[in-house]
Amino acid sequence: MNEYQNQIIRELLKKSSKILITNHIRPDGDCIGSALGFGLALINAGKQVEIVNRDGIPGSFKHLPGSDLVVKKVSSSYDLSIVLDCSDLERIGGVLGEEIPDINIDHHITNLFFAKHNFVEPESAATAELLAKSIPEWGLTIDEPIATCLLTGILSDTIGFRTSSVTPDTMVIASSLMSKGALLDDLYFRTLTQRSFEAVSLWGRGLSRLHLEGRLLWAELLLEDRKKVHYPGNDDADLINVLSGVQECDISLIFVEQKGGKVKVSWRAQPGWNVSKIALQFGGGGHPAAAGAEINGDIEEVKKMVLEATKKILLSGNSDHQLLEKVVIPPTEMGSE
Ligand code: 5GP
Ligand code: MN
Repeated sequence: MNEYQNQIIRELLKKSSKILITNHIRPDGDCIGSALGFGLALINAGKQVEIVNRDGIPGSFKHLPGSDLVVKKVSSSYDLSIVLDCSDLERIGGVLGEEIPDINIDHHITNLFFAKHNFVEPESAATAELLAKSIPEWGLTIDEPIATCLLTGILSDTIGFRTSSVTPDTMVIASSLMSKGALLDDLYFRTLTQRSFEAVSLWGRGLSRLHLEGRLLWAELLLEDRKKVHYPGNDDADLINVLSGVQECDISLIFVEQKGGKVKVSWRAQPGWNVSKIALQFGGGGHPAAAGAEINGDIEEVKKMVLEATKKILLSGNSDHQLLEKVVIPPTEMGSE
């Protein structure tokens, strides 16, 4: 962030005493780690902070410092609202009602600049990386609990430093967080290796419906699967990251049926492909190698539409191909929360 942007943030933080932080539905490690890390830094500076996430904090992140700060609905008054790690406003799941947030801090290239002040750095591998770099520049301190939250965010979005978004800067920042006391091996295990029995059972249901067509791989998870294995979340339990490692595919997809006639779609692409544009066209967003959208419609209908559009990318042999512009989505089927 440049000095002008840092100045704006410093001033906004200085004149606010009650701060609301919110982030995206179906929260991941970057979303939670960023909110907790920034939230704790603000509390240490004497601010009152509430962190609101529509879906609450997943069990897999409850070990993080400050996790009890996360609530599902706004319950206190605030004089500054901050949205983290979220490329569009729909994705916060309505926690702010019609209100335009004050600050939007994010690293998604598809960010729609929806707030009064927008700070978007797509070159950062994670929102937590951007925050780890910026928090000291805003006059706040990173101590061990904050470093723990921020390193979790970086580990989560880079899947353990193995995405193409990782830069030398990412490693320097991660190293400085380790120097503050964040335990890499412990956080790696908790964030990326350890799984609940229910999560792995859900993988089993999804893996029983695996399809490979050309170099396109996909699976689906139905509402009944969640119920059957008692999986408490409304996400794919990271099954997409298993699919994306399958040697025979260039693009992998997962369709996760949601309540209320919606389907959450995740795309993953091998280097050289870009799935962020197609996600954006379906009302979602993300990064070139990993993107998602929530699309209204029945799962069969959504699957057909998304598979057809995704096959066109593969056929074109080039992610930025013209055909992408020709994908027609009926307005009623555009995703919105
Ligand atoms: P995932 O597929 O794991 O949910 O997300 C992959 C990437 O796409 C993440 O960076 C995530 O923030 C973004 N993403 C996933 N779903 C949506 C969505 O519905 N809207 C937007 N704007 N971004 C999404
Ligand atoms: Mn992120």
